[in-house]
Amino acid sequence: MDRRVLALDQGTTSSRAIVFDGAGRPVGVGQHEFRQIFPRPGWVEHDPEDIWQSQLAAARDALALAGITAGELACVGVTNQRETTLVWERATGRPIHNAIVWQDRRTAAAIDAFRARGLEPLLRRRTGLVADAYFSATKIAWILDNVPGARASAERGDLAFGTVDTWLIWKLTGGTMHVTDRTNASRTMLLNLETMDWDRDLMAAFRVPAAVLPLIQPSVSRFGETAPEILGSSAPILGVAGDQQAALFGQACFEPGMAKNTYGTGCFLLLHTGARRVVSESGLLTTVAAGATSSPLFALEGSIFVAGAAVQWLRDGLGVIATAAESEEVAASVLDSGGVVVVPAFVGLGAPHWDMYARGAIFGLTRGATRAHVVRATLESIALQTLDVVEVMEAAAGLTHRELRVDGGAAVNDLLMQIQSDVLRRAVVRPRITETTALGAAYLAGLGAGVWPGLDTLTEQWEAGRSFQPRLADDGRERLVRRWRRAVERVKGWEDM
Ligand code: ADP
Repeated sequence: MDRRVLALDQGTTSSRAIVFDGAGRPVGVGQHEFRQIFPRPGWVEHDPEDIWQSQLAAARDALALAGITAGELACVGVTNQRETTLVWERATGRPIHNAIVWQDRRTAAAIDAFRARGLEPLLRRRTGLVADAYFSATKIAWILDNVPGARASAERGDLAFGTVDTWLIWKLTGGTMHVTDRTNASRTMLLNLETMDWDRDLMAAFRVPAAVLPLIQPSVSRFGETAPEILGSSAPILGVAGDQQAALFGQACFEPGMAKNTYGTGCFLLLHTGARRVVSESGLLTTVAAGATSSPLFALEGSIFVAGAAVQWLRDGLGVIATAAESEEVAASVLDSGGVVVVPAFVGLGAPHWDMYARGAIFGLTRGATRAHVVRATLESIALQTLDVVEVMEAAAGLTHRELRVDGGAAVNDLLMQIQSDVLRRAVVRPRITETTALGAAYLAGLGAGVWPGLDTLTEQWEAGRSFQPRLADDGRERLVRRWRRAVERVKGWEDM
């Protein structure tokens, strides 16, 4: 008893909550979608109240389904969509603007201006990030500059900024705690990775007043108590991490060289580098990894823009499959892709190519090419993009990982996972519990509450569901990789500048 942990998993399109038992098994799940707001092309917002209400409803559902009250919880953990930016009034808790979501491009010009001032090398050194509108700093400044009177109130200390974790904790604690964790802070362009504190020079460069910023804590620490009226009785919030870092933790990747890849719309690949802060020249990000203690830990992060989205394109764009799951059956109906190569550079290419002008293409068509070849080549493209990122990551970190742990919606595709193992030439392991993001938040909080004595217990508890071993002969693999590399070269710079 009293060993259950509630994990809140606040995502981009829905809020989820899962109650885990002492063995790390889910015993109650709640999920509520909420509204996406697109005020203009390239702008994406959420109503902060929607974020909160959907999360609260999910938490109450999860508790009800687990058949417990909040009083029976050992603790609460929080994980969240990262970078999304909120600003609210400290006195009333009222947001002064909608949340600006990570995908929002409205501050692209502010980033260009930042670069033009020659500040990007400083940013890279201090924060491990590239200058991009994706991160929070320029979004904070945009709100302060566009809501009448906001900048002056911010300077007076009347406003609070938060990423989604901070907002949820503020609400959960009845407006008493204004805190964030290091992993979320590392996505703002304001966290100095050396000091693990806000960086004065970057605050000045992005025009973010100190008075709006939350206190930064390690991922396992006391973030406050939920106010009794919220869930029926109070529970301590003891673990917080951004979604990708939580997934790395939920995959029990605690050591340097351990890596996970999440196959969703895009892919998020994280390689643990331990206490070492590796700086990459290939556009990978250095990010804070969640740890059980207050010693800072790091990871390299690479993202692939189009992964599962390429399968959606097969379904909705080409109409050659009826469901995403059908991609497996259709691809398996041929032995290989028959020389067909699909490069899904629909929105350009990310790491390690970084070409915003690249566009997608299908190569190697012959009279014998069928939809099955195209579908199979699309699955291969997801695995091959992952290979490209793994190679630059390992080169930057000087580490080789033995196996890749996988999760996300497309990781259920066994054929894709087999192809992934074949091109990486190493094991690909899918855990039994694929809710790794929520599980990571639960693990962090549970460590704080003593539900689990330490990382060894979690390592033992983590259970492989299915493991894929490389099977493809070397020459087949070489041919696949060579063709892929040739195709990628040909799509670069396609779109007129
Ligand atoms: P996100 O969190 O980015 O919305 P999810 O983790 O929910 O993504 O995964 C959804 C993605 O996975 C979609 O892009 C979908 O096309 C893809 N997907 C779902 N099932 C399969 C499958 N069986 N095979 C390949 N791709 C799949």
